[in-house]
Amino acid sequence: MSPVRVRFAPSPTGPLHIGGVRTALYNYLFAKQNSGEIILRIEDTDQKRFVKGAEKYLIESLNWCGINFDESIVDGGDFGPYRQSERKKLYKPYAEQLVKSGFAYYAFDTPIQLNLMREKMKKAGVLAPQYNHITRGTMQNSLVLSKDEVQAKIDKGEPYVIRIKLPRNEEVKLHDIIRGWVIVNTNNMDDKVIFKSDGMPTYHLANVVDDYLMKISHVIRGEEWLPSAPLHILLYKYLGWEKYIPKFAHLPLILRPDGNGKLSKRDGDRLGFPVFPVEWKNPESGDVSSGYRESGYLPEAFINMLAFLGWNPGDQKELLSMDELCENFTLERVGKSGAKFDFDKTRWFNQQYLRAKSNKELAKELQIILKANEIEAEDAFVERVCEQLKERATFVNDMWIEGKYYFKAPLAYDEKTIQKKWKPDTPILLEELKNRIMEISDFNAKNIELVFKSYLQEKDLSMGRLLPVFRVALTGVGMGPSLFEISTLIGKKATIKRIETALEKINLWD
Ligand code: GLU
Repeated sequence: MSPVRVRFAPSPTGPLHIGGVRTALYNYLFAKQNSGEIILRIEDTDQKRFVKGAEKYLIESLNWCGINFDESIVDGGDFGPYRQSERKKLYKPYAEQLVKSGFAYYAFDTPIQLNLMREKMKKAGVLAPQYNHITRGTMQNSLVLSKDEVQAKIDKGEPYVIRIKLPRNEEVKLHDIIRGWVIVNTNNMDDKVIFKSDGMPTYHLANVVDDYLMKISHVIRGEEWLPSAPLHILLYKYLGWEKYIPKFAHLPLILRPDGNGKLSKRDGDRLGFPVFPVEWKNPESGDVSSGYRESGYLPEAFINMLAFLGWNPGDQKELLSMDELCENFTLERVGKSGAKFDFDKTRWFNQQYLRAKSNKELAKELQIILKANEIEAEDAFVERVCEQLKERATFVNDMWIEGKYYFKAPLAYDEKTIQKKWKPDTPILLEELKNRIMEISDFNAKNIELVFKSYLQEKDLSMGRLLPVFRVALTGVGMGPSLFEISTLIGKKATIKRIETALEKINLWD
């Protein structure tokens, strides 16, 4: 068996959509699973669709995801260059070879002539007119014109393209690992342009030539390329490379959460969640589309979620690290039907990964947010805050939003709690409680709780009578982790000070 070599071959026409990331991921997992190699090839033959910054964005996104390449535009490799525009010179001889062997032809038709043909065919009742075995005989191409006429046109510098010459009524069969046998009749295909008048190959020719030259063993790509696969098979045959046709696997679409159609780039933030791995700023309009990275997702969670969009390991396990995914991944377990994107599940994955992180790791992330908010705190303190908050958080940022009170005294008090729980005798009770707290010498959660509970007992009060107002005084909010733990962390001095401030500020009966 020849070694496994796969490629991810994006076109730099804009930001990489999560569907594209999943294609890269499946290629990566398949390569690792089979001790093979993965290549990053940039398919930039369509200069009209080139978008500035798209390539840089791509590299940054894949890096963030932890999808690393053995050969690429960054690291090079034995089969480079890996950017098709830099391979430009290489494709023409193959197009010429096809012309010489009778599998392709020059076509000089102008846009006007092409339009005329389409109009004529439409009038004759053809719904989708094509340049094919029926129409090509009426056009300006080297099948119709004499050798001299063709040469004269070329000498005059008339623009021309090279088209593949498809046979009439022939079945093209291809086996897809995910879909099984796919059979298409050439009568339903057209004579696609394989070489353009600007001197560049089209996607089809460049893709096949490069897959061959780069010794690609498996082509794993999105379902939208399935209709092109029969043409690619024919190109392999006509170029004399039949023995080297790679194995194909066309991945199912990623659908919108309601199952209504493909999740597209344009869905952007419209559906309430990002469709890009990393934030994208449109270089022309300046519009910003949100990314998973900037929204606080951990790359491990994002990758785990993506892996499960169209694949599962066949058991109940849902949390798999990149290494475990590499071990378990098989193309045979990729489904045929579209995979619905589930945003709640995406959040769930992040929550699981966040919980699994050590307090130290989380504290490092939280410190970044704290610094941005001009808060200085000791690492050990932040670690303990993380310990208390991580079970309640989906993102690191949630710990900051929910736990601001660990770092600064509240500026406002939850009105609902006050309206419901702040009674005329509350100030007296809190004042007394404060005095008891002041007497605690060994200030820890256990002792604070003991003092608090014995005070309740003494006054014959329920928890619900005093705990919520104590909480609101210390934190400003109505809910949170154990209040005794919070009090311990902020310390005795701050606990007392915060009760005093609350007593000053919350005065409902003046
Ligand atoms: N350049 C194509 C794309 O942008 C690659 C298709 C393929 O993998 O063959 O998706």
